[in-house]
Amino acid sequence: MDAVKGTSTQIDLEKLERCKECKGAGAAAGTHPETCSRCAGRGTVTQSSGFFTISTTCPQCRGAGRVIKNPCRACYGTGRAKTRKTVSLRIPAGVETGSRLRLRGEGEEGDFGGPSGDLYVFIHVEPHEFFEREGYDVLCQIPISVTQAALGATIEVPTIDSKESVKIPKGTQSGKIFRLKGKGVAHLKGIGRGDQVIQVLVKIPTNLTKKQEELLKEFARLTGESAS
Ligand SMILES: [Zn+2]
Ligand SMILES: [Zn+2]
Repeated sequence: MDAVKGTSTQIDLEKLERCKECKGAGAAAGTHPETCSRCAGRGTVTQSSGFFTISTTCPQCRGAGRVIKNPCRACYGTGRAKTRKTVSLRIPAGVETGSRLRLRGEGEEGDFGGPSGDLYVFIHVEPHEFFEREGYDVLCQIPISVTQAALGATIEVPTIDSKESVKIPKGTQSGKIFRLKGKGVAHLKGIGRGDQVIQVLVKIPTNLTKKQEELLKEFARLTGESAS
């Protein structure tokens, strides 16, 4: 029902956030990252050999351009630390298993104070005890009695909103499908809704009373059947 109607929820996750101790710099309190002496902060070093000049990643700072002499103890100089976080999430109406939500900037912190990545949330919809879903249609099975099926009846059927009256015509066979237009799931993108598809199943009565049994035997005689 949450998937059908949309909901708000919270999820707990562990992710790399900007280290609070060093504020993402990676250097221990009171110190600062120093500009790499080998590459003068460029992150690359050039070597000349004959006519060629080859540029390679600086081996001292590994391309960062800075060197941390005293790494922050909380994050080992990475500027990021694992943190448990609660993320609020709005689930739109109409999602289904496999739907993917993207939360911009809720992913892991970038390197050395760089921009955060995104968080992708994959939806898994738990089965409902009564309704099934096929795309935007809602399916259900409703038991009716032999007399309702034979004589016709108006039955009340639960829907995802509340309930609806459905007219069962005389002589309805078990397995017959009725359709409630526009009573299904709202389309995730765009307007309109699917249908509710109702399959009626005729229940054969058990534990008949003496009187009921006599009447059914009488019914059988009138139809020309031989009842035991
Ligand atoms: Zn730190
Ligand atoms: Zn360097």
